[in-house]
Amino acid sequence: MSADALLPLLKSTFGFDAFRGRQGEVVGRVMAGDHTLAVMPTGAGKSLTYQLPAVALDGCVVVVSPLIALMHDQLRGARAAGIRAASLTSVDADFADTRQAYRDGQLDLLYIAPERATGEGFRSLMEARTPALFAIDEAHCVSEWGHDFRPDYRLLRPLLDAFPAVPRLALTATADKHTREDILVQLGIPAEGLILAGFDRPNIRYRVTPRLSPAKQIADFIAANPGPGIVYCPTRDGTERMAEKLAAATGRSVAAYHAGLDAERRARVQHDFVASEDGIVTATVAFGMGIDKPDVRFVAHAGLPKSIESYYQETGRAGRDGDPAEALMLWGAEDFARARMRLGELPAARVSGERARLNALAALVETVACRRALLLRHFGESPPERCGNCDNCLEPPRQLDATILAQKLMSAVYRTGQSFGAGHIEAVLTGRNDDRIASRGHDKLSVFGIVAGDEARLIKPLVRTLVAREALETTEHGGLMFGRPGAR
Ligand code: ADP
Ligand code: ZN
Repeated sequence: MSADALLPLLKSTFGFDAFRGRQGEVVGRVMAGDHTLAVMPTGAGKSLTYQLPAVALDGCVVVVSPLIALMHDQLRGARAAGIRAASLTSVDADFADTRQAYRDGQLDLLYIAPERATGEGFRSLMEARTPALFAIDEAHCVSEWGHDFRPDYRLLRPLLDAFPAVPRLALTATADKHTREDILVQLGIPAEGLILAGFDRPNIRYRVTPRLSPAKQIADFIAANPGPGIVYCPTRDGTERMAEKLAAATGRSVAAYHAGLDAERRARVQHDFVASEDGIVTATVAFGMGIDKPDVRFVAHAGLPKSIESYYQETGRAGRDGDPAEALMLWGAEDFARARMRLGELPAARVSGERARLNALAALVETVACRRALLLRHFGESPPERCGNCDNCLEPPRQLDATILAQKLMSAVYRTGQSFGAGHIEAVLTGRNDDRIASRGHDKLSVFGIVAGDEARLIKPLVRTLVAREALETTEHGGLMFGRPGAR
């Protein structure tokens, strides 16, 4: 049966008129009994690619999924669509009933955690009645190359091999080339079974801008975005302070979320957010995994994310319903300074990888070209030059050659002994006469007062750029010194 033949069922069960992106191809392979690895970005609609076959196929679709919270959300969704669905996890009390229903052929969809799927009990359940499909969600967990390796996933292979005629569908949103190849090998899926959907999320508008007064910048951003949203903050304290400030500035309901809160509180914040039409959560990156809320209208980052991958995953929580959504990132030179400082504490083997991550982020925040194009190229795609839906496409920044100013700036850093902060360097370059400068004899330097007029306003942005590029570094005391790329 081809995927198109399932369109009436797609409409009657889920209310959708068409497949989205490459869903149809994935479903087509599943229906044909072929093994498949589908790599689709968050929000692309991965779950539909096994939920629809669960309705269409005789027999039960077994879904291995590592996140119990996510599983239960999916379960509710599937049941609401009239699918006979159940789960076997450590928090399910109706274990025996579920197993009996499976044996009796009363289930379309059965969710199971990986540690349970690899046990003897589950194997004998599968032997009692052969499943129609094994779907393996978050399949990157099977690979040590992936960012979330789980040993239990490695133990799935014997189960899959025990039922060679049952098609396998591995799903993930995040897998680079290495990880993809590894998943294919680990799960016994042929290379032609790879379906790689585009990473583009055209309805998300990206904005990246220097952090000047974060609470105000984010409050202004929120004022233009009445719907629900997430504000990621770098620290636990930061989430609480930001929540207070945003609530005061916007009058909207704002809740903080971080791993330091007790489980009950976290569950409530998450539950209220999912149910709300205008709720705001200020959160550490602990928030968001496994939350199914298609109408998130904005995601803001109050500080630099950990990597382009995490930025893409976190912003990807916006606009999963396909309606316009916004992503705003605020960054400061100190974010890079701190992150580069931390490189020194890492085991040697990880330093070059982490430095590459930071450099990719530096390129993102600095670029005057299309942000989306840069992001998509990072994921190995060849996007058009301009997207028309990011800050740089919408309001192209003025560009100028700052080479001479950069030379003046570096010179001032050098001549003052590589220990003064940006404010002092700016004062020297612009020839400000104050005691601090005079007492150190900095008014006698050749760089004193060599920057004037409009150019003076470029000093601070230039410092940010040079720190992001690692041409400058900050010392422990906040002074500027020459960067030492590769020294750590
Ligand atoms: P993923 O698991 O890939 O992140 P989901 O399966 O949670 O994505 O789906 C994201 C959203 O897209 C859900 O709200 C879902 O109902 C919706 N969706 C999925 N497939 C379609 C489709 N063919 N047409 C319209 N909406 C869809
Ligand atoms: Zn663009």
